[in-house]
Amino acid sequence: MLVSESVKSVRTADGKTTVVTGSGTEIPVDGVVAGLGILPNTELAVQAGLTVDNGIVVDEMLRTSNPDIYAAGDVANFYSAVLSKRMRVEHEDNANIMGEMAGRNMAGEADRYQHQPYFYSDLFDLGYEAVGELDASLDIVEDWKEPFRKGVIYYLRDGQVRGVLLWNTWGQVDAATRLIAEKSSNSRATLSGRISD
Ligand SMILES: Cc1cc2nc3c(=O)[nH]c(=O)nc-3n(C[C@H](O)[C@H](O)[C@H](O)COP(=O)(O)OP(=O)(O)OC[C@H]3O[C@@H](n4cnc5c(N)ncnc54)[C@H](O)[C@@H]3O)c2cc1C
Repeated sequence: MLVSESVKSVRTADGKTTVVTGSGTEIPVDGVVAGLGILPNTELAVQAGLTVDNGIVVDEMLRTSNPDIYAAGDVANFYSAVLSKRMRVEHEDNANIMGEMAGRNMAGEADRYQHQPYFYSDLFDLGYEAVGELDASLDIVEDWKEPFRKGVIYYLRDGQVRGVLLWNTWGQVDAATRLIAEKSSNSRATLSGRISD
């Protein structure tokens, strides 16, 4: 892994591919997978005069700064009561649950968005589900049943679990969500075996 590096160019010559980094290092590769992230499409919201700050800012009822306009999904910047911070989530569960709630509130309900979204992916014979904040700068506790193939990774700040990665560990999203919401003090000892399938 190369940290604090950028990709300057990808060159193919004589059937061989080389990635050239920002600092000039040349790396011969078999293939390139580009993970570029996204930028929320907020142009229309800006034109409409809505408050935009890393996405369209919504309140707990998913109303934008114009209370007759709602936003949900990847583009919405909402307050997570569980994590005590504003965030924008680019995942399906958040888009589904938030979109349904925005629709209900537009039709007259007054629900508050308190859902802690999870996300998932499958990578060949490996798969994961994850809840909360998975940030490599947090304290990390690994609890493997089988190293790098099956286990649970906890992300902590000041002893509180902020995120849980369920690596090939299934049916435990609710347990992980409850653990984050508990905001209890934890350590490697208390987390060992805490969640498993
Ligand atoms: C390649 C890929 C893989 C993914 N894999 C996963 C995964 O494994 N797990 C997971 O949880 N999530 C995954 N996601 C993320 C997930 O697909 C998104 O979080 C989800 O689709 C977001 O839904 P949304 O309704 O908020 O936005 P979108 O699905 O992006 O829908 C927004 C819609 O608004 C339309 N639109 C935008 N601007 C305007 C405008 N001005 N006027 C009219 N229409 C407009 C767009 O065309 C689009 O149809 C993946 C996404 C991608 C791209």
